[in-house]
Amino acid sequence: MTRFHRPVTLQGAVNLLQRHALSEAIAGGQSLVPGLRDRAHDLKHLVAIDQIGDLRGITAGPHELIIGGAETHHHIASSQIVRDTLPALSDLARTIGDAQIRHRGTVAGALVSRPLGTDYLAALLALEATLHTTTGDHAIRYIDLKAGDRFLAPGELILSLSVRRPEAAIYQKHAHDAAGYATLGLFCARWTDQTHSLAVIGAGFAPSHMRLAAGQAVSDAGPDMTARSGLNPFAEAVLNRFLHQAQAALQPRKN
Ligand SMILES: Cc1cc2nc3c(=O)[nH]c(=O)nc-3n(C[C@H](O)[C@H](O)[C@H](O)COP(=O)(O)OP(=O)(O)OC[C@H]3O[C@@H](n4cnc5c(N)ncnc54)[C@H](O)[C@@H]3O)c2cc1C
Repeated sequence: MTRFHRPVTLQGAVNLLQRHALSEAIAGGQSLVPGLRDRAHDLKHLVAIDQIGDLRGITAGPHELIIGGAETHHHIASSQIVRDTLPALSDLARTIGDAQIRHRGTVAGALVSRPLGTDYLAALLALEATLHTTTGDHAIRYIDLKAGDRFLAPGELILSLSVRRPEAAIYQKHAHDAAGYATLGLFCARWTDQTHSLAVIGAGFAPSHMRLAAGQAVSDAGPDMTARSGLNPFAEAVLNRFLHQAQAALQPRKN
């Protein structure tokens, strides 16, 4: 039998996760519950973290945007703060799954359950994100996401994620027809020094990110990103189309 706990404090959740060996945090349940139904997990304790205020909130500073780990895709998509400071992230969140996934699923849950496949990874890599967890701060580019959900220590919780605020950004996605996952996702950001950051993610290839010098054409990154990611010819063609669209969308406006 699995016991269900619903602590209201962060420390309460951490204590439960550390005290019980076969335990796991549950946020929106969109990834975990199907696995539990299929008996893919042998869990004795489920620790619900949806009542913990420390895991919520969206705040913007002059240089960064901070999003609580338990914020849902819907809240990120509809937040006025996100729309005002980083509309490309609202657009990204709006592309995720279906209405139920977006209303229940959380950003931390997506990153833990699909570290290499979630759309957020493209934004997090391009925007040089930091994960703030119960053990400390971790720059996303140094996290071994290939380790799957084991990139966190047992009992470690993601409190929030912070990203740098670019001058302009765009997210483009080629979605799987049925599930809506990104078969290819490209996040491009332009910084105030006119350099660009690009990150590409998707099913079946290695996520890749790169920084372009000021004046370098975004659309010229195609061969480099293709080589780094190991894209197949179809994905390569989509990437090249996305890069040209991003180039046009990120042109600085002339007044
Ligand atoms: C049909 C379908 C379509 C989908 N389409 C997309 C898509 O297009 N793009 C995309 O990016 N994703 C997609 N997803 C994935 C979806 O985003 C995730 O299922 C969802 O965000 C998981 O979040 P959750 O809060 O429900 O996590 P849960 O199911 O509650 O938990 C999942 C895992 O995350 C851990 N976890 C949750 N919160 C924390 C935290 N704060 N700290 C540490 N660990 C935590 C849990 O312990 C568990 O291991 C899809 C999923 C489905 C089922």
